[in-house]
Amino acid sequence: MSTHNIVFDIGGMRFRSGIVDDEGRLTNQVAFESHTLPKEIVEHITRIVESNALIARDPIVGIAIGGMVETNGGVTSGAMNMFEFPLLERLQLRYPVVVLNDAKAAALAESRFNPNLREKSSFVLMTVSAGIGGGVVINGELYEGHTGVAGEVGHMIIDRGQNAYCRLGHRGCLDALASGRAVNNRLKQFWREGHWTQFEREVELRDLPQLLAQCDGMAHRLVEEAGKWIGAGVMHIIRVVDPCEIVFKGYLMTELWQYIHPSIASVLASYERGIPLSLSSLGENVGLIGAGIAAERLRESLAKV
Ligand SMILES: [Zn+2]
Repeated sequence: MSTHNIVFDIGGMRFRSGIVDDEGRLTNQVAFESHTLPKEIVEHITRIVESNALIARDPIVGIAIGGMVETNGGVTSGAMNMFEFPLLERLQLRYPVVVLNDAKAAALAESRFNPNLREKSSFVLMTVSAGIGGGVVINGELYEGHTGVAGEVGHMIIDRGQNAYCRLGHRGCLDALASGRAVNNRLKQFWREGHWTQFEREVELRDLPQLLAQCDGMAHRLVEEAGKWIGAGVMHIIRVVDPCEIVFKGYLMTELWQYIHPSIASVLASYERGIPLSLSSLGENVGLIGAGIAAERLRESLAKV
């Protein structure tokens, strides 16, 4: 008999939930834009678990969240203003709960359901959304590291000479240079400096596809620069992990792939072996499906106790 779990994917701006079975099939999906406080996120989760528990029998709750998540379920720095927030501890639910980073959840989902990766023992998933994160799969297993924060590729220092800081205060890390947040800040700055006067308000990330489609030189240079920084990050990953493939997800990749892929690939052109770069095969549900796999893994480990 199939099992069902209640799953969440909490990103920088979007809150998703659903029920997923052990074959990765999703139902009862809810998604809304949200930028709220950790306390309210706890309330959202609690309310949705209570209503979905009427449908999903004996569920495990799987929560994928953008940000640095330790093995104890604490969020060091994450989506929805979570800083040093003990998410797992604050959730007083009647069911077992697992909390993991959203890129790691996506890596679990790709590892299991992406047909192109089934024969590939080692790959790295990189998410480039509001922030940049990663999930490392080695010999078919998600590598979590000593404290659970392995694969945080966004905080690799790429260029300390740049006057750009991430939310953790690192100067010149990949997140500070090429995340959606970083690109958004640069767009706004250019607009304030007098560029793109056709817009009567600050230019934001959501305007970028339109500018690129109009062959705006400045927008193209900005994306090319972000791509080159991401390429430098990918090169570091390759040197340490030697993966078979790099899989990307997140807004900057899914929406801008045709523009950003060539500049990432140009940095990697010097890599003697070459490496496939691809987009996530599971689309926007990848985090929810991965949270379901993490929930199943918790179910199996609890059954052994
Ligand atoms: Zn950083």
